[in-house]
Amino acid sequence: MHTIAAISTPMAPGGIGIVRISGDHAQQIADRVFTSVSGKKLTQIPGYTSLFGSVHDGDGSFDQCVAANYRAPKSYTGEDVVELSCHGGLYGMHRLLDACLQAGARLAEPGEFTRRAYLNGKMDLTQAESVMEMVSAQGKGAAQAARAGQEGRLNQRIHSVQNTLTDIASHLAAWADFPEENVPEVENSQLEKDLLAADHILRQLLAGFDTGRILREGVDTVIAGRPNVGKSTLMNLLTGCEKSIVTSYAGTTRDVVEETVLLGDVPLRLADTAGLRNTEDPVEQLGVLRSRSRVEGAQLVLAVFDSSEPLQEEDHAFMDLIGNMPAIAVINKSDMESKIDELYIKTKFKQMVYISALQGSGLQELTEAVKKALHLQKIDPSAGVLFTQRQKEAVRQSHGALTEALEALHGGMTLDAVTVCVEDAVSALMELTGERASDAVIDKVFENFCVGK
Ligand code: GDP
Repeated sequence: MHTIAAISTPMAPGGIGIVRISGDHAQQIADRVFTSVSGKKLTQIPGYTSLFGSVHDGDGSFDQCVAANYRAPKSYTGEDVVELSCHGGLYGMHRLLDACLQAGARLAEPGEFTRRAYLNGKMDLTQAESVMEMVSAQGKGAAQAARAGQEGRLNQRIHSVQNTLTDIASHLAAWADFPEENVPEVENSQLEKDLLAADHILRQLLAGFDTGRILREGVDTVIAGRPNVGKSTLMNLLTGCEKSIVTSYAGTTRDVVEETVLLGDVPLRLADTAGLRNTEDPVEQLGVLRSRSRVEGAQLVLAVFDSSEPLQEEDHAFMDLIGNMPAIAVINKSDMESKIDELYIKTKFKQMVYISALQGSGLQELTEAVKKALHLQKIDPSAGVLFTQRQKEAVRQSHGALTEALEALHGGMTLDAVTVCVEDAVSALMELTGERASDAVIDKVFENFCVGK
């Protein structure tokens, strides 16, 4: 296989920049662009050792460099690897990469290092996908989930189901194919029990997908309420900077402002909307309209009320608009004397928290309320969750085949019919882990990777 090279650090100036080379000729190619101070060659030293020296091309030496040496199979890709660490200037990095390409390497494709790791059996497909998740994780929960995936927790959960189903399928096949061998008869009740146990784990995995997605992509959240209750102030508090225009005149927030913030570990994709009220001003009307449709499409509404005033008609209209959406009543201005009918609000919302957006108090309670509203409290992201659409689709397929197996069993169909469905369920799981995945599936997994990973 061709020896490949790429810049593995971000395309931005940095303290250190790394060009990674992987393949049979990694050391030879690196020796053509790197000269050590000690005079030793990378081809001569063992894995897990480094040399200090400089890098050069046809125009001479251009930077200092530490070359880290890895020998197959003990490297990220499972191949011979050299990592050249230089000063992270963009010019120098590109010049070094060019020198490696001149010296015989081919430019790596997106995700090619990880793809080789997968092909060399260093990781399965779910672990490869979690590498990408790790790189893009924005919060602690997402990073924990990615780490669990990297460590193979998801893979283990899948394998436990796969083993159960493979045992069932082979037992059923042996019993059907070799009646003379005295294979013990398959007990329908035991078969059902095993299938249901597998079904339970797959259901759990599917249910956890939304959590994984929330941790990764954030929750579509709107801060909404009538004008002047403190929506912009809350938005600014959460984002930590002045994003919306805050004034004490009603109706100044005219459009939807968006920002992703971390509340505790949960990324919220926040929109602060124009005051929800009837207005003659056409520009403001547009904002109101947008905020209405945004409220209707949101996964979570932070419904803000001003505790210093009694509930107004617009507050009631707003509560009607929210209806049964997942929402938290945020009673703002708790630093002032309360004149609001809290008991009434309590009848309309499952959760109610008191905050002072101005003073920044009540954020902890708000964080807990958000976690509760999204059912994130009981989920342990380190247990291994599904985090890509591809993974979910494969588990859904497997679960579908398992449901058919159970239906066939309950419907009194032949055990052959059950076997076929169980085998389909196993196939879908093998595609998920990459044990039996087509090139098209593998291409799809790696097309989202960046070059150098
Ligand atoms: P919006 O129209 O809902 O976005 O409301 P703003 O965020 O513009 O706030 C309206 C007014 O209420 C401003 O004068 C804010 O300073 C004030 N305000 C917002 N939050 C609080 C709070 O927690 N306590 C007090 N006392 N005033 C607040």
